[in-house]
Amino acid sequence: MQYNTGDMLVVQIGDKRKLVRYSGLTGLDSLEGFDEKSYCDKQELVKFKSEDVLSNHGPDPEPGSSYGVKLNKFYRKVPSLLADVHLYYSPSEAYLTRLIATLDECAQIYIDKGWVFAKKFRIEIYKYHGQKMIGWYKHNKKDEVEDVLALCNSEDDPELKRLVHHEYTHRLQSCSSLAGHSKAKAAWIKRYHEEVTTTLYNEEFITKISDAFTKSQKSLKDWFLSLEDDEKAVMKKIFKHIKEKHKLDAKDLQTLWLAEEDIIQYFPSVVELIDVEILLTEYARKNPNEFMAEIISYHLIGKTIPASVLPLVEKTLHYISK
Ligand SMILES: [Zn+2]
Repeated sequence: MQYNTGDMLVVQIGDKRKLVRYSGLTGLDSLEGFDEKSYCDKQELVKFKSEDVLSNHGPDPEPGSSYGVKLNKFYRKVPSLLADVHLYYSPSEAYLTRLIATLDECAQIYIDKGWVFAKKFRIEIYKYHGQKMIGWYKHNKKDEVEDVLALCNSEDDPELKRLVHHEYTHRLQSCSSLAGHSKAKAAWIKRYHEEVTTTLYNEEFITKISDAFTKSQKSLKDWFLSLEDDEKAVMKKIFKHIKEKHKLDAKDLQTLWLAEEDIIQYFPSVVELIDVEILLTEYARKNPNEFMAEIISYHLIGKTIPASVLPLVEKTLHYISK
């Protein structure tokens, strides 16, 4: 097979698979290219044979992966006040301008607050293609290895600034004086635990709701709409359970309902509810670190945060600024 200089290949090298930027032939069936992971700094050359090439994605690979290798091609590096920005796709000029302006604006806030730390980091920008994770902060304990603040949100994301604050909060967690302050961390864990109040709705509750369910003469939907808000929340969980465990959707249930079949047999015995209102976002429920990142990011963009966490936020930010 023929390859063109600059083609992005997935290559089997020893027991590893790598994304390689093809650079040319060095002999009969002896090929050469750059390990893409090292392309922007060291440009490591790798040698391989044509039989080692698993796939060719051309000079502009679509985001995704092949043979377990992420198809992230490095395009270019642009400076920002916050850190160097490594682009792993070619964004629109409008987005790039907005991105750099946002990063500069955030950097100025962090500088003013004294949140600048010795540990080097870079910003990596990936193309959004529907991924769940639209940003992350990767901390490396070794001083010589840069941390990475990555973003892959959609270009029209109105929450860009908050997302930067969210990821930068993870930097505060690992690089500021907070990292070694177990008391402050414990305060957040406790706060998180208190906020994520898990309510178990047991058999008794479900029996009560089931009674109402069977006695009702209306359609399933009308019956659902007649419930109180907290009952609705429980029923939603029950419907979800029935869909996951028994593969029956609302239409199936409606059919059973009309035929006066027993639907209660598909109900779970226990339903868990988590109070999300206090936590601002569903994501904050994930763990104490995400809880803190969500709360602080909202605080930094000026959104009102729950009074129950405000003192802790102020104390924490004051402590980091010292
Ligand atoms: Zn996070």
